[in-house]
Amino acid sequence: MKTTHPAEWKGILVVGEIRNSRVQPVTLELIGKARELKATCPTVGDIAVVLIGDGVSAALAEVETSGADEVILVDHKQTSLFHNDLYATILQNIITSRKPSVVLLPATAQYQDLASMLGIRLNTGVAAHCVDIRISKAAEMLAVVPAFGGKVLGDILCPAHRPQMATVKPGIFRQAPPISGNKPQISHFDPSAIVAEKLQNPRLVALGNSACATTRGIPVEEASVVVCGGWGMGSKENWQLLNELANLLGGAVGCTRPAVDEGWVEGESQMIGTSGKVVRPKVYIGAGVSGSSHHICGMKDSDLIISINKDEKASIFEVSDIRVVGDAKQILESLIEKIRAIRKA
Ligand SMILES: Cc1cc2nc3c(=O)[nH]c(=O)nc-3n(C[C@H](O)[C@H](O)[C@H](O)COP(=O)(O)OP(=O)(O)OC[C@H]3O[C@@H](n4cnc5c(N)ncnc54)[C@H](O)[C@@H]3O)c2cc1C
Repeated sequence: MKTTHPAEWKGILVVGEIRNSRVQPVTLELIGKARELKATCPTVGDIAVVLIGDGVSAALAEVETSGADEVILVDHKQTSLFHNDLYATILQNIITSRKPSVVLLPATAQYQDLASMLGIRLNTGVAAHCVDIRISKAAEMLAVVPAFGGKVLGDILCPAHRPQMATVKPGIFRQAPPISGNKPQISHFDPSAIVAEKLQNPRLVALGNSACATTRGIPVEEASVVVCGGWGMGSKENWQLLNELANLLGGAVGCTRPAVDEGWVEGESQMIGTSGKVVRPKVYIGAGVSGSSHHICGMKDSDLIISINKDEKASIFEVSDIRVVGDAKQILESLIEKIRAIRKA
């Protein structure tokens, strides 16, 4: 059933993510992809980015040169805490009044929840966790989504409903280079009426920000060197070698799912793959990692991939630039020793 004729919907809306008053890099990555879509299909229309939060106007400078044609600011005290019902209602209002053809959101803990809520309210489809997005000359979006744990890639179209919505994890797309002197139009959306209604009749009350797990050292998705351990590391004791090597190289430690399950790392913040982070470091060193499709899709775009595995037939070697066949513990120990010796000399 058609909700509205697709031709009435025009433009790309990027929903920006703000955390601790800072525009998150995924916002700029989504704007970068939106620029690509607009370059392929100029008739899709302009790119607008919406920023919601208390004092969000201060974050304007961070998106000004991103290439967006318009920045919509939703600056209100009561939006300081993420509240899915409130945020979804604000976005629903913006989307139904502006009718963008494409809406892109971050596939982060909070915003993927928001995307599905919005999809239901707008009676449209949401392609979740896309690894690529393309557009036809007729402004039809094609979202590429991994299925069956990353073994196949599915193409998703949304032919009869608008907007065409997609969510994308941080790190999947690259930020486009800034355009100096770009001056987007600035618009304001006043959410006071929505806030008042939601406060009067709240379904949920946000009391405060929960304590966020603080990452020690460089977050794995921001490190230029990632030393990643897999089940082949064998023990928590051996795991220390990864920390040592990462420290020496000024990098971060990443891991596979079994390392989380074994309790060698705390939580999933360092996990790389379909259900973890996407990394694109200058150097990725994998030790005792088999190379399952779930993991490879999170690290395959690293500039240089070095793998250590005792099995010469391990799948990780198929995507590796340097293959080291041998025992991970022994090789890491000798690598650490050599780096120390070079530094001392
Ligand atoms: C829906 C779903 C989502 C998932 N998402 C993710 C995800 O996001 N990230 C992720 O990583 N996994 C994910 N997984 C799990 C994934 O399928 C694999 O099970 C996992 O990646 C394997 O991790 P591994 O390579 O550490 O372990 P294994 O596959 O057990 O491999 C261990 C490797 O270590 C080698 N080895 C053993 N001993 C040594 C030694 N002494 N020295 C050197 N090498 C040695 C072995 O030869 C082997 O290749 C997901 C699974 C499902 C079903």
